[in-house]
Amino acid sequence: MSFRPPKGTDDIGAPASTRWRDVLRQWDTWADRFGYPLVMTPIFESTDLFERGVGEDTEVVTKQMYTFTDRGGRSLTLRPEGTAGVVRAFLDSGARGPWKGAYSGPMFRHERPQAGRRRQFWQLGVEYLDVDGPAADAEVIELGYRFLSAVDVPGLEVVINSLGDTVCRPGYVSTLRSYLEAKRDVLCDDSVSIIDVNPLRVLDCTVCAPVLTDAPAMKDHLCQPCAAHYGLVKKSLENLRIPFREDARLVRGLDYYTRTAFEYIATQLDAAQNAVGGGGRYDGLAESIGGRRAPGVGFALGVDRIVLASGEDVGPQVDVYLVSETGPEDALIAASVLRLAGLRVDFDSEGRKVEAQFKTAGRLGARAVVVQKGQGDEVDVRIDEEREQMALEAVPAWLGTRL
Ligand SMILES: [Zn+2]
Ligand SMILES: [Zn+2]
Repeated sequence: MSFRPPKGTDDIGAPASTRWRDVLRQWDTWADRFGYPLVMTPIFESTDLFERGVGEDTEVVTKQMYTFTDRGGRSLTLRPEGTAGVVRAFLDSGARGPWKGAYSGPMFRHERPQAGRRRQFWQLGVEYLDVDGPAADAEVIELGYRFLSAVDVPGLEVVINSLGDTVCRPGYVSTLRSYLEAKRDVLCDDSVSIIDVNPLRVLDCTVCAPVLTDAPAMKDHLCQPCAAHYGLVKKSLENLRIPFREDARLVRGLDYYTRTAFEYIATQLDAAQNAVGGGGRYDGLAESIGGRRAPGVGFALGVDRIVLASGEDVGPQVDVYLVSETGPEDALIAASVLRLAGLRVDFDSEGRKVEAQFKTAGRLGARAVVVQKGQGDEVDVRIDEEREQMALEAVPAWLGTRL
């Protein structure tokens, strides 16, 4: 019997989990501020949903899904991403008109584990549905940017592109295909094998990138409505003072992606794992999973990568450690008073020696130590070099200006 987590999964506890909690809290705050209510969908769904919603030919569907048959004989799959489930839930709810949802939770893909890539990994994101206008795209991009800035992802960069739509993309794709056919001899085998079926994906290939610098770009082949939409998205980002860079090689290989595509890059991470997330417009997705037309835009961000990018600095686990010379029963009551006043407090329930209690305060990184000396409510408060005696009730206000 092995008591190790399965390959590609991790146990995440303190102190690393302190950072996770902070990131997830920031997410709740920012999603809420932008008007995205929480939407919670099942962790497993019908396999069919992901085959249609993620794309039957994608690597995720062909090689990475955790699929099983349940006791009723249904084929189910642990969700490999969040969008398909949320769009299904939206269609299922019968809602009409602009609809917003924010999600956060574990996703599952059978991939080769490495730093920032686990088989159970955490994604958070939003979907904004039944919206056509470019302001929706810009708002979604802004939300991701504000959140990632708030959690200190270093060297944050927004990269955008337009993928056109069903009017202008087919023409572009055949132009691209002819260009690639002519380059056949200098492309890698993988790229050559998809020139016919999915030439857009060749632009994604890092091996072939050096010989594709003069490849035709979608943004030069947009129809008038797509060009206007893209122009307004960029103008809005400028108005919001969100720095962005255009990259013609940012593509998504599935037909239901339209117009805006974007990625958030942590430029200080290794190139192989520096994309902390991305998204775009998917005007054809709802129909591809069997629903009505419901244009939308969204993104998904990887929390594993965000935590990796924003570093190890976890900050204190508590504001106050309560050291008691009179025993755990007294400490429990004093801790309760401080907790009800809004402070993050811990104490020693085992009645250990005072020195051991101070040691724990240090290990938890407590900003302040409150020492309970006698039966009265006078306590000794220590923060940095300062020391004060005061009534327990006065502690929250006094610390409030110092923490
Ligand atoms: Zn290639
Ligand atoms: Zn177009």
